[in-house]
Amino acid sequence: MVEKMYRDTWAEINLDAIAYNITQIKEKLPQDSNVIAVVKANAYGHGIVPVAKKALESGASGLAVAILEEALTLREAAITAPILVLGFVPAKYASVAAEHNITLTFFQLDWIKEVGKQDLINPLKLHLKVDTGMGRIGIRSDEEMVSILQEIAKNKNIHLSGIFTHFATADAEDLSFYREQTERFEAFLHVFKKFWKKPVMIHIGNSAAAIRFPEKMYNCVRFGISMYGLYPSQEVREEHAIQLKQAFSLHSRLVHVKKIAKGESVSYGQTYIAKNDEWIGTIPIGYGDGWNRKLQGMNVLVNGKRMPIIGRICMDQTMIKLDGYYDVGTKVTLIGSEGNDCIEMDEIARYLDTITYEIPCMINERIPRVYV
Ligand code: PLP
Repeated sequence: MVEKMYRDTWAEINLDAIAYNITQIKEKLPQDSNVIAVVKANAYGHGIVPVAKKALESGASGLAVAILEEALTLREAAITAPILVLGFVPAKYASVAAEHNITLTFFQLDWIKEVGKQDLINPLKLHLKVDTGMGRIGIRSDEEMVSILQEIAKNKNIHLSGIFTHFATADAEDLSFYREQTERFEAFLHVFKKFWKKPVMIHIGNSAAAIRFPEKMYNCVRFGISMYGLYPSQEVREEHAIQLKQAFSLHSRLVHVKKIAKGESVSYGQTYIAKNDEWIGTIPIGYGDGWNRKLQGMNVLVNGKRMPIIGRICMDQTMIKLDGYYDVGTKVTLIGSEGNDCIEMDEIARYLDTITYEIPCMINERIPRVYV
């Protein structure tokens, strides 16, 4: 929660939208399939603790993060739900994970051997990562898997509780590589089950796979981008398989309004020269907040109408061309709905030639998150 705001620029996080999106995916999944809420990178820029709490309240059975620091932030906030760290954690920090009942991802024999030598307070829970084609982290052969499982079997303090993989193209139009990955995973699982008889949690699906193939997701899905109401790709969006609500919106207010004469310029480098006498508004947000400089020319909403960003975006301030006079204090929406129009995260991503995922992550901690 923001205690004090001295600047009229804020991101609004609609927690009901998070709850709604979780309900939407749960309705598609088989009853016994769980949702792990992916809250890494400060919950994709939405705020890790409030989002994690809301997700758990709304039916998620656990949380996933990328790094141990994020898992510890959740534990410090008194969250006791299962937490899986999806990325690599050096073996020397296994004791920290064990102490806080945090599950780690592993995929290296040497790593397991090093952890095996440690005196852990509690048993360490681990999920085995299988690289079926993402090419990032994970075991790639049956031999690696068998030697790792043999090593784990020797150690009572290590509790293998899951096995998983991650897709590279589950959001794409061409699903042939997705199918290849699922087949490779099935083959790994076949060998795994021969060598490991105790039950483990099996999971493969990100948002795209969960939305497109809900029946094929084994025990749970790792639900990230779509929990925030965003589609993994245009392809998934256009399939209309799920209805989502965008949780993140970004707002500011006019701090200065003035009329400039034809021929006058605005901002660094004089990249904007007024073609007529024009009303210009200034809003207190800039690239120092993560509001990318390349957004010059993008629209914002004032009273539900689109107005363009003109001139170079500065570190802390941005100028917009108004269609007339507006009072200082008038609300400006940079992302989200205002009146009958909406600037979607997708639109900003397209403008910046990037993916939707990057947009809420790029709005940095200088912008307070307000929860509604
Ligand atoms: N699982 C892993 C291993 C990931 O790295 C990610 C995100 O990048 C996710 C799940 C969630 O993916 P998405 O945000 O597409 O749902």
